[in-house]
Amino acid sequence: MNGAVTATEAQRRYMVERHLKARGIRDERVLEAMGRIPRELFVPERYRHNAYCDEPIPIGCGQTISQPYITALMVQALELKGTEKVLEVGAGSGYHAAVLGALAREVITIEIIPELAEMARRNLEVAGCGANVRVILGDGSLGYPPEAPYDAISVAAAAPEIPPPLVDELRDPGRLVMPIGSLDEQELIVLTKSGGATSTRVAALCRFVPLQGGEGWRFD
Ligand code: SAM
Repeated sequence: MNGAVTATEAQRRYMVERHLKARGIRDERVLEAMGRIPRELFVPERYRHNAYCDEPIPIGCGQTISQPYITALMVQALELKGTEKVLEVGAGSGYHAAVLGALAREVITIEIIPELAEMARRNLEVAGCGANVRVILGDGSLGYPPEAPYDAISVAAAAPEIPPPLVDELRDPGRLVMPIGSLDEQELIVLTKSGGATSTRVAALCRFVPLQGGEGWRFD
């Protein structure tokens, strides 16, 4: 077998060492998954040379794929073991769902923009990451009740507060991660539900696109 490392594999290794490990990502399963999943297949062709840079990349329809560090931080915060059913709100390119799919039993990812839902499906299939990931076209600001409860929920768009329906759809015990704040700047909040109570911590400062649709939980 030829053990030569391709240029893309080298970029992926660099991303893991420089943008993830060196910045404090410790979960070996997250590092392994992101060191294996072909991120370049989730990025529009004209940006592929930037696929492993630590910056958001446009994916069309005014949306972006988050920088690798933020994806890793969000996924690490969920502390997945491999048995979970996970809801993602905001499929975008499908990359974050692919990482979740590598670490959990089942992933449902909901996307409000039809072109992006279609693109996420296609990207997941081409990358060979779609077996346990289902892309739903719809408004996820109220979650996705038909499949609730979820062991973990990851929201990739910002709102002024965590939509209460998402907390209701979270299993006890369970974890939710979501950017909360103003349009310009948010805190990445990790909510833990346990023993009938919830607690929150701030994982990082961040800047996400706003959550669309829904009633009451978005920016006016
Ligand atoms: N996780 C994505 C990835 O890996 O490429 C990046 C997501 S991008 C930062 C945010 C996504 O959330 C956009 O695709 C946007 O259309 C979607 N979105 C915004 N509001 C939504 C809503 N209410 N329901 C579902 N998706 C929503």
